[in-house]
Amino acid sequence: TEACLKAIEGADALNAFVHKTPEIALERARAADARIAQGDAPAMCGLPIGIKDLFCTKGVPSQAASNILKGFLPEYESTVSQNLLDAGAVMLGKLNMDEFAMGSSNETSAYGNAVNPWRRGNDDTALTPGGSSGGSASAVAADLCLAATGTDTGGSIRQPAAFVGITGIKPTYGRCSRWGIVAFASSLDQAGPMTKDVRDAAIMLEAMCSSDPKDSTSTDLPVPNFEAMLTGDIRGKTIGIPKEYRMDGMPDEIEALWTRGAEMLKDAGAKIVDISLPHTKYALPAYYVIAPAEASSNLARYDGVRYGHRAKLAQGDGITEMYEKTRAEGFGKEVQRRVMVGTYVLSAGFYDAYYNRARKVRTLIKKDFEDVFAQGVDAILTPATPSAAFGLGEMQDADPVQMYLNDVFTVTVNLAGLPGIAVPAGLDRQGLPLGLQLIGRPWEEGDLLNTALALE
Ligand code: GLN
Repeated sequence: TEACLKAIEGADALNAFVHKTPEIALERARAADARIAQGDAPAMCGLPIGIKDLFCTKGVPSQAASNILKGFLPEYESTVSQNLLDAGAVMLGKLNMDEFAMGSSNETSAYGNAVNPWRRGNDDTALTPGGSSGGSASAVAADLCLAATGTDTGGSIRQPAAFVGITGIKPTYGRCSRWGIVAFASSLDQAGPMTKDVRDAAIMLEAMCSSDPKDSTSTDLPVPNFEAMLTGDIRGKTIGIPKEYRMDGMPDEIEALWTRGAEMLKDAGAKIVDISLPHTKYALPAYYVIAPAEASSNLARYDGVRYGHRAKLAQGDGITEMYEKTRAEGFGKEVQRRVMVGTYVLSAGFYDAYYNRARKVRTLIKKDFEDVFAQGVDAILTPATPSAAFGLGEMQDADPVQMYLNDVFTVTVNLAGLPGIAVPAGLDRQGLPLGLQLIGRPWEEGDLLNTALALE
């Protein structure tokens, strides 16, 4: 813990930690030492970690990287962070992210973006750590903490993990409780670990999961011992390669990485088969209808009364002006865009044309996966992202759809509620990390982690 706190002090330029809690951390580390001395050490006893700012942490600022939650000190701890504390983990502080987890580059953060510790071999351009869990990615990659929590609504664990060369798993929807995590799109949001390797991910995921009466969508299934499932044996497994993920204009190094990944799995004894997920091309548009629709509803609670920021009002301003001014000041541009899109697609005149249609597409996407799993496919291998980390500012203020295209390989997994993992898989020509993604059957994270081990 002391070593990490020191590293954090020297890493302000990364802007990964947005609230540091060194006193709390040292106190918990001492308590962990005492437990270890008594021979009573739970799985994560004394391990220093970072927590994404989206998680409510009791008495510690939890702002979802938004000005509208400025100064918000929760009176409760999220179930996932409580589970980690119960497992002995030491929280070093809160980690940067895109505002309300909306973004793929960390540039929508009210704190300013976190920075990727990697640089291209041939220039010194500062790169994005990805998003929305960009602070988590940057902190783990730069050794500021041993691991971090992330959340993933459309790729926010897997894309930043790929951009900094670490491992990140989004478990099956319902595996982790969403209670106490600031809601973005409730039918898609899941928490998960971002770690140095697959074994750490297995240990940390087990500590994070629980069935929770406070989240009606959390599962009653028992939490497996994921680490014990890491045998390294994947003989006889069938891995599907979906042809629809071979996008036009895919860089050849991504293509080569994908082929190499398939070969590694084959060498480890798996059978590689070509599969088809025919509705893949509708995933991104469906996601960017459903996620904003749910966000517009979830974000209605930020009204200037119940949380954080309230705008200064002029003489004669009424309640409408208070809402309008507070939300105009408190929400950043991307969040406002999502609220407007979401409100539009849910409005009486357009509900059937957009929201309902997107829900039907979602069902078809889910069925695509069910069909291939029914044919005996155990896991699906794809690239994690369409490119390596891009430069900060390169996509900002460009067409927002360009940014949304980053999520092309990841959103299907959230729409279908499946577990997905990104693992580092090599470097591109410029020396930047690239990741591969494995998608698993529902509730079979143990198997998925074990398959991912074969890619390490
Ligand atoms: N980049 C996607 C979005 O902006 C995904 C974000 C996430 O998974 N939280 O919605």
